[in-house]
Amino acid sequence: MISPTGFPAEELPDLPYSRQLKTGFPWLSFDPELELEFRRSHLDETLRQVRVNLVLAITIAIAFSAMEALVLGRTLNRIPSMIHILVIVPVLLVVLAVSFSPHRHRLYPPLTIAAATIYGLSEVVIQIIASSGGVSILFPSLVLTAMYVYFMAGLIFYHALAANVIFTFVYLAAATALEVPGREFGYNAVAIVAANLIGASVVYMHEKTSRMRFLEAGLLREMVARDGLTGIQNRRMFDQHIQRAWHQAMRQEERVAVLLADIDCFKDYNDRYGHQAGDECLRAVAHCLTQCARRPLDFVARYGGEEFAIVLFEASREYVAEVSTRIQRSIAELNIPHEASLVAGRLTLSIGAAFVVPSPTRSHEGLIQLADEALYSAKEQGRNRVVVMEAEYHNLKTGRFEKRRGQQMAS
Ligand code: GH3
Ligand code: MG
Ligand code: MG
Repeated sequence: MISPTGFPAEELPDLPYSRQLKTGFPWLSFDPELELEFRRSHLDETLRQVRVNLVLAITIAIAFSAMEALVLGRTLNRIPSMIHILVIVPVLLVVLAVSFSPHRHRLYPPLTIAAATIYGLSEVVIQIIASSGGVSILFPSLVLTAMYVYFMAGLIFYHALAANVIFTFVYLAAATALEVPGREFGYNAVAIVAANLIGASVVYMHEKTSRMRFLEAGLLREMVARDGLTGIQNRRMFDQHIQRAWHQAMRQEERVAVLLADIDCFKDYNDRYGHQAGDECLRAVAHCLTQCARRPLDFVARYGGEEFAIVLFEASREYVAEVSTRIQRSIAELNIPHEASLVAGRLTLSIGAAFVVPSPTRSHEGLIQLADEALYSAKEQGRNRVVVMEAEYHNLKTGRFEKRRGQQMAS
């Protein structure tokens, strides 16, 4: 089966994005977690344009208000004009203000549905007042409102549909109750229902495409970030993460730790059991490591070959020791036979750990190098053990460890 991305579906990695691509989404809805992520990203993507649109809508509302005051003032008691200025404009201003709020992801959608409904209902009231005053030239603004809610408010399909259906029904009900003349009512009813059909159909197609793009982009991001064999984060992600963690730890004067874990005698394992068994083994070890470092800011990656890197943020000496011990214990519990090992009859790991409070005169590369030295020392001491380096940070003087002046100024 070919997936919508053009890849054979069975070759896509098993991730929420690919699962959703395979099952499809004819009702414009994802699994709950993905749905939440999509709505957040949809709002983030459209927010800038939505703000511009809101300013446009406020300007248009003021223009309509002025036109109504000018053209209909005496006939209709200026009520339509006042509704535009005193109801619609303030509502739009509130929505605009909320679009800048840090809580906008939670507030904007329900508020915008409410605002769209109030906007629509206000337009309906204006229509009804105009019709009952014998003026029928205001109807186009109702259609314009429907178009705005569908295309320019940044609402997802169902929210835009809900807001539009509410005010269309209110219009139809109110026009019926107030006995708007039959021919005018019939024509307007057809026009507003047609506007809804056109709006809903275009927004449906547009959202379908943007949901597909969201899934493909997510899948691509994950594929770039993950190691193909083990499925955990790859070296590229480690390089990005350690830089970020280093700078954040420096700002917060927190400790950051790097653990390098290297499988002992892995070449002998491959030679003895075959490369495919070696691959299985790497998968099992990777999974085991992700289970051992599970705090929200803990990070596990395949560093290269049979070596893994773990970054622990806000890492106390005790936590580094705890994670290292947990890893050693879990690997022992995996109990993978390794008869060719020089160390034990089963698979073992050596771990080099380094942890420091970053200083502006040092670089993250130095921290990795310190972990590497610790790993080397663990191997030297006979493997299947943990060596932690901390104080050495201040004494170690190597080319890479001290941050170069040019680098320091650039960062
Ligand atoms: P030490 O205890 O000193 O770490 O010895 P070692 O044999 O583990 O280390 P060495 O660097 O000599 O060998 C690493 C081996 O890891 C060699 C290579 O074939 C194997 N390896 C690296 N990447 C992969 C992989 O993706 N799959 C498999 N099956 N093996 C791999
Ligand atoms: Mg090794
Ligand atoms: Mg190695």
